Amino acid sequence: MVPTLPSSQGEAPEAPPDLHPVPSAGSFGHPELCQRPCLHFLVGRNCLAGDACNYCHLPHSPGPKLDKRQRRIIEEMPKAHFLPLALELLADKARAMELQGTEALMGILENEVQSEDAPAAAAPAGVSGRPPLGLMRCLRAMGFRNLTNMAARKCAEGTKIRIRETVQALRANVSQGQAGARVTS
Ligand SMILES: [Zn+2]
Ligand SMILES: [Zn+2]
Repeated sequence: MVPTLPSSQGEAPEAPPDLHPVPSAGSFGHPELCQRPCLHFLVGRNCLAGDACNYCHLPHSPGPKLDKRQRRIIEEMPKAHFLPLALELLADKARAMELQGTEALMGILENEVQSEDAPAAAAPAGVSGRPPLGLMRCLRAMGFRNLTNMAARKCAEGTKIRIRETVQALRANVSQGQAGARVTS
């Protein structure tokens, strides 16, 4: 008897090209704290780095994208306005996703706000604390990590580094629950 081999042509109905979304090193803390999605997966290819890849291999929902005008508003917002807003949104998100251990991160951002001596002076006239509604909606829908990165961009270099370290620690915490998915070697 000749075993029927699965024919390599014709029969497979439009299967995507062998994509296995296996968590990668970058997936720790997915979906809120992981690294950026891996470009290979975004364009529908497998990533040769496999689970050692430092970008996230798990599927991400596209999430809100700021348009050019919205990005400019954020860029031009003085730190003294943006950071308290980011703090408020991050606290809401942490609560909603029951993320523990964010105190260190919040503390760093709070310190950074207070380190600013003349906050109001830096604000151009007419720029009030709150961005337009559409932008607020985007910021609310944004992932925890994205928002943290935006806040970090406003901070001094040393603070940026501390924020990065704190987020890594948070990721490590969160991913303890996901550790089973990771290959131990
Ligand atoms: Zn992810
Ligand atoms: Zn990758």
